[in-house]
Amino acid sequence: MNPLEPLISELKRLPGVGDKSAQRLAFFLLSISEKDVQQIATTMVETRKKIVYCQSCFNISLDDTCYICADERRLQNTLCIVSEPKDIFAMERTGVYKGLYHVLGGLISPLDGVHPESLRIKELVERLQHQSFDEVVFAINPTVEGDSTIMYLSAILESLNLTITKLAYGLPMGSDIDYADEMTLAKAISSRSLITK
Ligand SMILES: [Zn+2]
Repeated sequence: MNPLEPLISELKRLPGVGDKSAQRLAFFLLSISEKDVQQIATTMVETRKKIVYCQSCFNISLDDTCYICADERRLQNTLCIVSEPKDIFAMERTGVYKGLYHVLGGLISPLDGVHPESLRIKELVERLQHQSFDEVVFAINPTVEGDSTIMYLSAILESLNLTITKLAYGLPMGSDIDYADEMTLAKAISSRSLITK
C-alpha cells in the first residue's frame, strides 16, 4: 500500500484539492519538520474549536461580537445581506463597503430542502426593527436561488421604509461572489441598483 495513501485521502476532502495537489501537499508535509507539521495541525484544530458565530450578524468570530460589528467606525445605517460568511470576506477584500452585514446561512432552495424558515430571516427582521438602518444591500450570488431569496426578502422588508439595493453585476448569471475578482466586485458595490417595488 502507498504509505501516503491515508494522508492523501484526507487531504482530498479539502475543497479544490484533487489527486495531484493532495500528493504534492503530502510530500510537502514530509519535507518539513515534525514540529512544523504539529503546528499546522494544532492551528487547524484550535481554529475549528474557537470559531463561533457573531450574535448580531452571524459572521464567524472569536467572540460573541465579531470584529466588524465591534468596529464603531463602520456605517451603522447600512446593512449588507449575504448568504455565507465567506461572502463577507469577499466584500471586505474590495475595501469599498463600509457598513454592517447579516449572514442568512444559505439561500432559499426548496429542491435542496432549504426553506425560508431554515435561514436567519427572523433575526434579520428583528434587527431591522430594533436598529435604525437606512439601506439594505443584497450581495447575493446571481443564481436562481439568489434571485428567489432576494425577491422573498424584498417583499418582507417592503414595509420597513428602507432603501433596498442589490449589487450590480458585471458577472454572468450563476456566478459566485466569492470567486469574483476584487475590481468587478468593487464596481458592483459602487454601482448597486435599487430594487423596485
Ligand atoms: Zn458581527
